[in-house]
Amino acid sequence: MYFLELAEIFEKMEQTTSRLELTNHLVYILKKTTSVIIDKIVYLIQGKLGPDYQSKQLGVADKVVIKSLALASGYSVNEVQIKYNEIGDIGDVAYEILKSKLQTTLFYEKLTIERLYNTLLRISELTGSGSIELKLKYINSLLNNSTNLESKFILKLILGNLRLGIADFTVLDAIAIAFTGDKKNRKILERAYNVSSDLGKIARILFDGSIDEVKSIPISIFVPVRPMLAERASDAEEALKKMNGKMCYAEYKIDGERIQIHKHNNRIELYTRNLENVTNNFSDLVHEIEKINSKDLIAEGEIVSVDLITGRFLPFQSLMHRRRKYNIEDAIKDYPVLLNLFDILYYDNQDKTNLPFSTRRKILEEVLSFKHDKIKLINQKTVAKVEEIDKFMTKAIENGCEGLMIKNPNSTYRAGAREWAWIKLKKEYSNKLLDTIDLVIVGAIFGKGRRVGKYGALLLASYEPDEDTFYTICKVGTGFTDEILDEISKKLKNHIIENKNPRVISGEIKMDVWFEPKIVIETFSPEITLSPIYTTSIDKIKKGYGLALRFPKFTGKIREDKNAEDSTTIKEIENIYKKQLKSI
Ligand code: AMP
Repeated sequence: MYFLELAEIFEKMEQTTSRLELTNHLVYILKKTTSVIIDKIVYLIQGKLGPDYQSKQLGVADKVVIKSLALASGYSVNEVQIKYNEIGDIGDVAYEILKSKLQTTLFYEKLTIERLYNTLLRISELTGSGSIELKLKYINSLLNNSTNLESKFILKLILGNLRLGIADFTVLDAIAIAFTGDKKNRKILERAYNVSSDLGKIARILFDGSIDEVKSIPISIFVPVRPMLAERASDAEEALKKMNGKMCYAEYKIDGERIQIHKHNNRIELYTRNLENVTNNFSDLVHEIEKINSKDLIAEGEIVSVDLITGRFLPFQSLMHRRRKYNIEDAIKDYPVLLNLFDILYYDNQDKTNLPFSTRRKILEEVLSFKHDKIKLINQKTVAKVEEIDKFMTKAIENGCEGLMIKNPNSTYRAGAREWAWIKLKKEYSNKLLDTIDLVIVGAIFGKGRRVGKYGALLLASYEPDEDTFYTICKVGTGFTDEILDEISKKLKNHIIENKNPRVISGEIKMDVWFEPKIVIETFSPEITLSPIYTTSIDKIKKGYGLALRFPKFTGKIREDKNAEDSTTIKEIENIYKKQLKSI
């Protein structure tokens, strides 16, 4: 299949704001594909070269792309740079300045998707001296064999700027329709996605095999499993009720970063909650994990920064120093961490996710039966009464935790699912104040006065998992220092889009800038109110009204560990609103 066909569909997808149309375009492409390239097409559609956990990053600098475009177009580097500053997207620049190119090209060999993918992959693997020249050479070989439309999307792919407005779930819908003829099968594919984290692989298996094969994709080492998630309760009584008043486990809820450990003999890899490989950032932990006496292992825990003198857990922000790309060794010395294991998914060559949590915990205790310096079992207590939970909560808070996790001892490990088997209970709830809420940034208006030239307020949205859409809930303009506003603006720059994203339901609201739903921030608000402007729970509680955060404030925490789809859900917002009404 030629890339031109894909580029033409990309062009159409860029123009549409309808989710249904986007899905139809995807189905069309998928149906036209061949077995050899099916997975590659799925990755390219997502603007990637493989599943997230493989971290195949293109890593090409703007400078190199500008130079190759200059070479391909006959413009000078300076002229391309000026156009880039004007237009803001290098793909769109290529589209414009390469318009008349094909008539003048003598040797034109139509670009196949396979060749494009393989060349991009080669570019992603280039490092060290001489790599820039080679990258230039490869990019040029692609541009020389493509139309201006293809060039536009090649450069967008290379710079990671392909914004088609689709999310994983839209791709899953399309795969279900294209290869099983029924969107309902998405549920089955979703389970496969939760254990394999690889949409390309699922599409390939379906293409060559059957849905039964997809159903039986096993958990495997070095393929991160999408993490099990928790619902939230506002107090111990509600949490216990959800456990049917029976005995359950209370665990410290630590404000760190969730890590999934994969071990096979001496090879160890660490993945974050959004499946990023962070093994290099935590080599101190890797040395400790090596000492664990097991051949195979997939386990989960929370890494937290600790004060070695007091032993207290430090807030999430200190841990972020450990995520830097350079001078990692210094960060390891300056910011010691502790890994608190709370679950085990695979051990001794066996998938353990179908065992009850109480059994998994016992296995974890056996695995960690001797003392490790930097690894411990999460602090856990068996509870059956409100007073027991409250007492343990006080202790957790004293030790620097966010609160508690209440867990059902009988529950299996449900990859990617947010259910009442795990319940988070934070200290803020117990004060009857509203908890912090994680929301995704979907738009912005420019600032005035001191904020001229910067964003004045950000439009935030909550998540609706059943529809895989985002509903607006407030504009936030307070709680930002100049530094953090600059940092957020820098991150948002990569996600600016011309029109509102089709997955964002925003009613009539007008914004100066729209963003792809990507960056999640933590907010705080003393109250949730009805609002005629925002769309969260629109018409559900009162006709013409949605729910909004009243006096929202940014807490200063960018949730680097969360994807847009991990934002607080509409259902959670509704629950908080209902609780609030009861407590008045
Ligand atoms: P939240 O990020 O507020 O949705 O809370 C869920 C997160 O709490 C998980 O993804 C973990 O990163 C973290 N966490 C801290 N302690 C625990 C624990 N004992 N069990 C499970 N998750 C925990």
